[in-house]
Amino acid sequence: MATNDLEVGLSDEEQAIREMAHKFAEEVVRPAGIELDRLVDPADVIAPDSILWDVFKQYHELGFGGVRRDTEMDALRQARLGGIISEELAWGDVGIAISMGLSGFHGPWVERTGDAELIERFCAPDSPTLGCWALTEPNHGSDTVVFTEPSFSDPAQKPDCTATRDGDEYVIRGQKAAWVSNGSIADIAVLFCTLDRSQGFSGGGVFLVPLDLPGVTRPPPLDKLGQRSLNQGEIYFDDVRIPASYMALGPEAYSIGLETMLAHGNAAIAQLFVGVSRAAYDHALAYAKERVQGGRPIFEHQSVRSRLFKMFTKVEAARALARRVAAYNAQSPMPSIQHCIAAKTFSTNSAFEVASDAVQIFGGNGLTREYPVEKLLRDARASMIEDGCNELLGVIGGARL
Ligand SMILES: Cc1cc2nc3c(=O)[nH]c(=O)nc-3n(C[C@H](O)[C@H](O)[C@H](O)COP(=O)(O)OP(=O)(O)OC[C@H]3O[C@@H](n4cnc5c(N)ncnc54)[C@H](O)[C@@H]3O)c2cc1C
Repeated sequence: MATNDLEVGLSDEEQAIREMAHKFAEEVVRPAGIELDRLVDPADVIAPDSILWDVFKQYHELGFGGVRRDTEMDALRQARLGGIISEELAWGDVGIAISMGLSGFHGPWVERTGDAELIERFCAPDSPTLGCWALTEPNHGSDTVVFTEPSFSDPAQKPDCTATRDGDEYVIRGQKAAWVSNGSIADIAVLFCTLDRSQGFSGGGVFLVPLDLPGVTRPPPLDKLGQRSLNQGEIYFDDVRIPASYMALGPEAYSIGLETMLAHGNAAIAQLFVGVSRAAYDHALAYAKERVQGGRPIFEHQSVRSRLFKMFTKVEAARALARRVAAYNAQSPMPSIQHCIAAKTFSTNSAFEVASDAVQIFGGNGLTREYPVEKLLRDARASMIEDGCNELLGVIGGARL
């Protein structure tokens, strides 16, 4: 772990968790990620006999899920441990790391409803349930996210998914896009959808929807370029009825809820893609020292060293910013959206650049599936669209300057 040499001041607990997470990433997560990436049919990634479930089981047995779900833990300690775990697991395979990270992410939203039955079913520490964030719609992507722009409150918007009050219930009708991570396998959706059409997307609500309810259907998952181990699946809601108590937020607080969610999501993505950059850098450094060309290792060429140094710099800078933002968020009532977006866009752009540089250092071998770096390039490319296209996130961040 050469790029971690600046890690000073880690507590014994942080050091131990880092070593444990690294071992798990190296021995379990990375080989599983390679195997899942090569499956032709994305349905096989989530088939009952998929290796994915064994990885999830070990993740929970090792206690990583528990660290994230522990509501009693000091927020800063939790953020530090969470960041260390995210980077290590994503170093192994970022798709699996994201999928596992969504286990229990719905917890704070479920608790916000105050519904005792829902809390008992979906927040019990001994029965880790899998969540998903269902925001993107087939006809609405960036426009559901850019809450700083006038279009967000335009009543002319025609949402694909709505909630309507009917007595003591809400009726959910419509569809969320195939881009919902864990969409095909989640137990519960944190559904962001339109409630009051007269306010456009700002008239939304946040609902907790158990995905075994009548009227929920989920077609086969999406086939995509990178992060192939991360399930992506659309969800149809055909007049799905939920108790009114399953609403976590109404239109009056929707925009602030979206901002908070987007900020935390961006901060998390920032930490994860440090792991991807570091994986690409580690592979490239090792290869440059092994690969003999023209009678000497290519590492001896100045241009190769200089490229590696730029990669190294990006890994260090992305980590420093991601951790600083996570520490701020843990100690503040509201996350700072512009800093979260800065961390996400910097980290994901860097991951793509570092992975591309790694392919260059591998030469022709970098393009083949026999070597690990083409997968990292594909995984990193998806991150520039995930949780908001980077350029649109810049519009939101810019509005806050
Ligand atoms: C790996 C992955 C995981 C994801 N996980 C989830 C998830 O868990 N839950 C979920 O709900 N969604 C998820 N998404 C969806 C993601 O948030 C959306 O893809 C993203 O918000 C962009 O929406 P879109 O794909 O519809 O692109 P569009 O909004 O159609 O954008 C297409 C292009 O047009 C540009 N554009 C759009 N509007 C404007 C504008 N106003 N001004 C200038 N340019 C504009 C964009 O920058 C982009 O280049 C995921 C996506 C990926 C790739």
